[in-house]
Amino acid sequence: MFKNHNDIDVEKEENDNQLKKYAGNFFKVINSTKVETFIILVIILLASLFTVEKCTSHFLIRGMVENELASLQTSTAVMANEFSEYLTIHDAEKDGVYDLLKHYSAMNYMRIRVIDERFVIVLDSYYTEYSRSMINPNVLNSYKNKKNVFEYNKKLNSIEAVVPIINSENATCGVIVTDMSLTKILSYKKSIYNNIYTAIIAVMIVSISLIYLIISVTSKRYKKLYQVIEEVAAGHVDKRLPVKGSTEMKELATHFNTVMDKANSLDESRQEFVSNVSHELKTPITSIKVLADSLNMQEDAPIELYKEFMQDIVEEIDRESKIIDDLLTLVRMDKKAVALNIASINLNELMELVLKRLKPIAEKKNVEILFESFRPVVAEVDEVKFTQVVSNLVENAIKYNNNDGWVHVSLNADYQYFYVRVEDSGIGIPKESQELVFDRFYRVDKARSRETGGTGLGLAIVQNIILMHHGIIKLYSEEGQGTTFTVRIPLNYVNENNHVSIKEDKL
Ligand code: ADP
Repeated sequence: MFKNHNDIDVEKEENDNQLKKYAGNFFKVINSTKVETFIILVIILLASLFTVEKCTSHFLIRGMVENELASLQTSTAVMANEFSEYLTIHDAEKDGVYDLLKHYSAMNYMRIRVIDERFVIVLDSYYTEYSRSMINPNVLNSYKNKKNVFEYNKKLNSIEAVVPIINSENATCGVIVTDMSLTKILSYKKSIYNNIYTAIIAVMIVSISLIYLIISVTSKRYKKLYQVIEEVAAGHVDKRLPVKGSTEMKELATHFNTVMDKANSLDESRQEFVSNVSHELKTPITSIKVLADSLNMQEDAPIELYKEFMQDIVEEIDRESKIIDDLLTLVRMDKKAVALNIASINLNELMELVLKRLKPIAEKKNVEILFESFRPVVAEVDEVKFTQVVSNLVENAIKYNNNDGWVHVSLNADYQYFYVRVEDSGIGIPKESQELVFDRFYRVDKARSRETGGTGLGLAIVQNIILMHHGIIKLYSEEGQGTTFTVRIPLNYVNENNHVSIKEDKL
């Protein structure tokens, strides 16, 4: 069956894609840390083994050759000494010295040549160079300088010793040349090499297996890490890394888990915030709808009822707009780069003004406001924001107070900080709620807070502003007895870059 052009093109494209996939996978494997580390370690191992092999064989063979040379030197000197009692080489020959040398030669697998003063070979234990003359640098050097000469001939793999023959009158009458083949060492060398290679191969197999094992274990741990990260990326944000393995792996796992915990809690608090906002914004609207519906349902509703309901609707709208205002204030402060309008402010004057403004509310409940200023205080603060702090705290002290109660406000300072204290004789805050009152939308008694027009955002705003001034706020409260808020802020505004941490216990 023939394929048309289109079929061939599609097939070619498929093949190309397949090839690209294989190539991609191949490079992925090659570029992986596992393969890279493995290759590097194997290269290092091979290089070290090669060096060890070369050094061992070199020094071993050199030692052996030196050993053989020394023993050849000794035995040649001993042989030369056999002639020392005679005047001529010929005399020694007659006395059977040649036979002794031949015997020696046969025993020690060495060639012995005796050369007389005419440089003629008079004895050759191999019988091949008899009567030939032998003049070479070694022979001349030894003869003329009465010196023992030695040579290692790497090419022929043999060693040679040339020792002068000194006669009974202490004159040089010839030289002895001994040659010995190092085939014995060669065979030694071979067996040594064989042993070294066997050892190297064994070491390599063991090391490579160990390297592979270690790398596999490490890469398995990394794989586990990637798996968890992938799962987290896919939405399983509760997944955590097991804290085990090497120190680095443990640290990595701990940091990863901490980051994930933080991200999760941030996400949770954001979700909680959004649901709180929705709920809070919906409440006034629901009330408005109920009020409007009930008016609509009454056909002949009197004008007084209309007025009353409309008044309620206006109050709900005011409430809604207050919530929105507070929310906007908070959201603006959440932005890191929010600019503070820092200036040197006379706090005594500022606080007196705030308290004056709040007096009418206090009078409604017959709450007495007392201001105690220990000294004149001028501090670097954002005037508008700091006014909001004092205002919110004192307003709360009035709102959550009993009729005929009191509010004591004080201002003090030392050389570093200024302190504001707002104390009331009000209803107090239960122990279990004391940590929560700074949370957004948290209210101890929702109904009471609603009654007094509270949004549950006031203390959150107060705390944010104080933190922006690098200060701290604390509260002490006894249910049914009253509440005290204490604020401490540095007199001089601390710039973010040289922010000094504040010890809480000083407050
Ligand atoms: P709210 O707008 O409800 O007043 P805040 O954030 O200012 O919101 O305060 C949170 C909650 O803390 C209040 O609802 C109230 O229950 C409690 N609270 C704040 N200040 C005082 C105080 N001086 N005395 C008693 N309770 C207080």
